[in-house]
Amino acid sequence: MSARHDLVVVGGGIHGCTVALMAARGGLKVALVERGALCREASGVNAGTLTLQMTRVALIPYALRAHAMWADAPNWLGHDVGVVVCDGLSLAFTEREEELLSYRAGKRREAGAPIELIGANAAREVEPGLGDGVRLAGHCKVDGYANAYLTGLAFHRALTDAGVTLMEHRAATGIEREEGGFAVQTAQGPVRGKRLVIAGGVWIEPMMAWLGVPLPIKVLVNQLAVTERQRPVMRTVIGIASGLLSLKQYPHGTTVIGGGWQGVGDRERGGVALMPERLIGNVRLACHAIPALKEARLARAWAGLEAETADALPAVGPIPGIPDAYVCGSVHSGYTSGPYLARLLADLILEREPALPLFPIDRLLPPQAGRAA
Ligand SMILES: Cc1cc2nc3c(=O)[nH]c(=O)nc-3n(C[C@H](O)[C@H](O)[C@H](O)COP(=O)(O)OP(=O)(O)OC[C@H]3O[C@@H](n4cnc5c(N)ncnc54)[C@H](O)[C@@H]3O)c2cc1C
Repeated sequence: MSARHDLVVVGGGIHGCTVALMAARGGLKVALVERGALCREASGVNAGTLTLQMTRVALIPYALRAHAMWADAPNWLGHDVGVVVCDGLSLAFTEREEELLSYRAGKRREAGAPIELIGANAAREVEPGLGDGVRLAGHCKVDGYANAYLTGLAFHRALTDAGVTLMEHRAATGIEREEGGFAVQTAQGPVRGKRLVIAGGVWIEPMMAWLGVPLPIKVLVNQLAVTERQRPVMRTVIGIASGLLSLKQYPHGTTVIGGGWQGVGDRERGGVALMPERLIGNVRLACHAIPALKEARLARAWAGLEAETADALPAVGPIPGIPDAYVCGSVHSGYTSGPYLARLLADLILEREPALPLFPIDRLLPPQAGRAA
């Protein structure tokens, strides 16, 4: 029989990696099972924006704490992921966007986000690269970005240092409950643990189905594009009131353009198909916000899969009816807030009182689902 771990985490994105890291540092013997390499799905291909202006209101208290974690990454993660803390602007170009921005910024401010509404001239003082036509802007000093592609490398080192048994390139094919815990099935044999965390991103739904728990997870296919290097043309993170833009220039000169314009893909095939028409819309909007981007050429574009629950709030907490099993994911703007939410779940597993409430999934399940399992 294979060795039993205190905890097996399935899925090595930002959520799975952080739970595994914190649990191991808390004294548990942890195994992490990942189908590919760490953080090569959403957690490694995202836009890297660490912003409160795109975070759902209910998540603001979490995102604020997570932002502080990212800013302090060298201390708790121990490895650099290129975090830059800077100002962020959310722009309104139309009357409708002005209304939307005032409403959304107001709600987020009530929830604790330090967002001020400023006029076009003040916005241009914050971001001299802005184009014409801005009517109003949300200004937040707690903004910034990371280099998402470095996330897996950083966690690989941190998890290895913390003594986590890393099982990369090992796909879970099923999960069985057994005396004293769980057996995660893989082609190389089962991985056994007393406790289980499912952290499979958009693949949470099929993983939960292995346990007989019907948790619907929507799949978003987000497209991103990156420019070649150019002279410094902006110094802030730029968004738009509708949420359909995220823009920042990295210190080496490339600019990542994102904002949720959808490609085509699915859970089984991956985020493989870009939609030029939609990508062009995103790029045009980016050039409208920062006109100097018109001087640059696009170097690359790609898509990635983001998970969303029915109420767009996270699935983070115990799995009802299955003692010692937990789920962690489906966090909107999950790169920003993920590390803090995953840390809260690790606290629960370590029998420490989480500092803020989790997001249990009972609300998302049909009546009695999972409870009789
Ligand atoms: C294109 C894009 C841009 C985004 N931009 C931002 C942004 O700028 N800011 C922000 O805050 N958020 C952003 N997000 C959201 C953010 O990236 C995600 O919310 C977050 O990374 C999700 O992390 P996760 O750990 O839940 O999932 P994932 O990172 O998807 O990790 C799940 C892991 O499970 C593994 N897995 C799947 N099946 C199996 C199996 N059978 N066995 C073992 N392992 C398996 C996968 O390989 C994967 O590594 C963006 C998302 C996308 C896709």
